[in-house]
Parts: sequence; structure tokens; C-alpha cells
Amino acid sequence: MALEVYKFGGASVKDAPGVENVSHIIQSNQVEKLVVVVSATGKTTNALQQVVQDYFDKEKDPFVKLNEVKNDHLNLVKSLFPNNRAAVEDVMDAFVEIEWMLEDDQGDPYDYFYDQVVSVGEVVSSKIVQYYLNTLGLNAVWLDVRDVLLTDNTYREAKVDWKETERRIFQKCTVLFETHHIVVTQGFIGSSSENFTTTLGREGSDFSASIFAYCLSAKALTIWKDVAGVLTADPRLFQNPSKLDRLSYREAIEMTYYGAKVIHPKTIKPVQNKSIPLYVKSFKEPKALGTLIDEYVSESYPPIVVFEHAQCLLRIATRDFSFVAEEHLSLIFEKIAKHRVKVKMMKNTAVSFILSVDDDPIKVKALFEGLNAQFNVSKESGLELLTIRHYNEETIKSLTSSRVILFEERLPNTIQMVVKPIDTLKLKDEV
Ligand code: ADP
Ligand code: ASP
Ligand code: MG
Repeated sequence: MALEVYKFGGASVKDAPGVENVSHIIQSNQVEKLVVVVSATGKTTNALQQVVQDYFDKEKDPFVKLNEVKNDHLNLVKSLFPNNRAAVEDVMDAFVEIEWMLEDDQGDPYDYFYDQVVSVGEVVSSKIVQYYLNTLGLNAVWLDVRDVLLTDNTYREAKVDWKETERRIFQKCTVLFETHHIVVTQGFIGSSSENFTTTLGREGSDFSASIFAYCLSAKALTIWKDVAGVLTADPRLFQNPSKLDRLSYREAIEMTYYGAKVIHPKTIKPVQNKSIPLYVKSFKEPKALGTLIDEYVSESYPPIVVFEHAQCLLRIATRDFSFVAEEHLSLIFEKIAKHRVKVKMMKNTAVSFILSVDDDPIKVKALFEGLNAQFNVSKESGLELLTIRHYNEETIKSLTSSRVILFEERLPNTIQMVVKPIDTLKLKDEV
């Protein structure tokens, strides 16, 4: 029987009309068996992140921000199902556990504490969607993803235990679909083998949906966004980028890996591995075709522009003018892996090695200190990585004429440059 997976992000469920719209999309598509993966509403994850920060900084009362989040959710549920007191209570009860945690001063590590608190955003949003679907008479059941999506305990960046996750998702969903048409669950979160909540990394709900699609060998995965589909550039930076009707998995993984924020880069592999078509569609225009990502290979893509912000350049030079030889490279890579630094570009010269990496202050500082004992290391922050796939000289010229290029690499169909950013408002180029 046909099974599909839908994913709805924060923007789609940010308020009552949003939840109603999402529910009508689900209702009108009439999929026989549907798994619905939901992210936290609107900016809830950022707000909960602030709660955690306030708890650790000890300067502000974390309950102030938490109460704002609770109030927003209370207003939302009261307007969506005013007569279902049990549902309102069930949603609001989800906050109790984190209130206990915030009252305690246990000295828990930051990353662990973060995951326990921030994950409540997805728990409440998925409950809200499930209750609303049932008020429409749809037969939806709520699944706690922490019962099925198993990870290691790398809090804030947990790695999936694929074998156990596949077994549990398949088993649990098979049982739930015997009595229900729709399973509503959470994106972004999972559980460690000790039963503590973990998260898969910011914006990870797309990846969660892809995990479900893989484990259930879904017929299709549809990710519903506030844009028409995958565009040739970020519409927040460029005027009128065009929509790509169809993309290969390869093209999609390259674009998203280098910073196209439309879908999380980890989303592609699970669906590619089982040849599951991935649709990116607009929840504002649900009947429109959107973008289809599959095995299709096009010979003629237009130029696709991607910016990755918050990059830094690390220049690593040998101290005694010896070559950057095998043993140096092996040491550098070992430290990169140890500190989980994300490398976007690299190049070696006779006596130095240059890297452009995501500027995560804690990880980069640890790498810097780890290398500084043996090498002369310098760091330049506040940079951007500009990637142009299927470039032509005109596009390169228009994007680089007012930028300082610090590091460049050109391959037959991709050019990448680490550049000093300019005021993005001046950017409004046509792509
Ligand atoms: P979600 O609601 O799932 O969290 P996001 O807001 O994270 O969705 O992602 C959608 C946003 O991604 C769009 O609003 C758009 O501004 C941005 N975006 C960046 N690059 C692209 C691109 N190439 N194509 C489409 N959207 C893009
Ligand atoms: N709510 C999480 C975040 O904002 C996960 C997601 O939206 O995909 O990062
Ligand atoms: Mg998002």
C-alpha cells in the first residue's frame, strides 16, 4: 500500500491559520498512509535556545522567555480547539519536565541540557497538528519519535543508529497503520540508548523526514516550504531567482552542502539510497508542481548561486620551512576530525595549508590551539563562501566585481570563492 512522508517546517505551522492550512493540505492529498514530520512552530527553537542560554548565564530568569513560549502555545491551542480541554492540557503538560529542569541546579553539561529543553518545541507542535487533524475527522495518531529514532549521545549533533532506527520505525509504523491513516511525529529529535533526548543539529527536521522515508521505503517524500521549490539562489539575497523544476540528487546534495538553506544537506542521502523521489513544494501554493529531486540528470542547469555565511580561513604553516608532507597532513586531518570542524575548501602549498571552515567559535578555537603547538596558525574570520554551480563568466563577474576574493578554486562546473562580505542589501542582483 502506498506510503508517503510529508515534512512541515516552522514557517508552515507558525500560527493558527498555518496549522489549518497544513491540515487542509494533508486532508486534500488523500495519501493512503502518511507520516507527517513536524518542526517546532515559528521561531520557537530560537526562543528555547535563549531559555537555555539564560539558565547558564544566570543573569536573566530563564522562566521569562519560557513563559512567553508557553503563552504563545496556549493561545494557539485555545484558538485551534477551544472545546477540547484534555487536548489543551496534554499539549501544555509537555512543558512540565523542562520546568523541573530549570528549577534545579544540577550542573548538567550544556549540550545535554540544551537537547532536553529545546526538543520540547517539536513535541508540542506535533501534538497540536495531530489534535487538529482529528478535529477535522482525520484518523491521526501521535508517535513519540524518541521511541523509534535511536542515536548516539553526541548531544546537539547526534548520529543516527540506522540499524535499530530502521527496525523500530518499520515495526512501530506497521502497527500504527493497522488502525490509523496518519502518523504525526517530530522532526529534529531522537533518543540515546540511555533514553535521553538528543537533537540532530539545527534545521534537522528535513533529515528526520528523510530517515522515515528510507526506513519505510516510502513512495515519495514531500518537504513543504514557504518558497515555490528549489530556486537558483536564496530569494532573501537575490531578486527573482528562478525555480528549478527538476534536479538530480547529486546537484541537490552539492548545493545544500555548500549552504543552500532550502533543505538540510543530510536529507539527500537516505532518499537517494532507495531512489525515493523528493519533492520540495510550497505550502502557500500546494497545487503547484514545486521541484522534483531524483535520479534525473540534466545537461543544462542554469547558474546556481549559493552563499555560506560565517566562514573563516585558517592558514597553517610549518615552523621550520619543511614541506607540508604526509605526516603533517595526517596530523592536521586528525585534529580536524577530533574537533569536528566542518571544512568547505582546502589547498596546500609547499610549506602551508589553507582551509576554509565553518566558523563555529568553540570548535575552531580547539582546532587552532591543537595545531598551534606544531605550526604557525593564523585565522581570518567574518568571511563568506560563494559557490557558483554551472557558472559562466558573466555570473562570476557580476558577483565578484565588488568583492575581495581571498581564496578561489575552479572546477569544470563549480567555482568557489572565499570572499569578504559586502552589505547584503547592495546585493539585490538578478540571477
Ligand atoms: P523550514 O520552514 O522548513 O524551516 P526554512 O526557512 O529553513 O524552512 O527554509 C526555506 C527557506 O530557505 C526559504 O524561505 C528561502 O529563503 C531559503 N533558501 C535559501 N536558498 C534557497 C534556494 N536555493 N531555494 C529556495 N529557498 C532557499
Ligand atoms: N526546530 C529545529 C530548528 O529550528 C529543527 C528544524 O526546524 O528543522 O532548528
Ligand atoms: Mg528551518
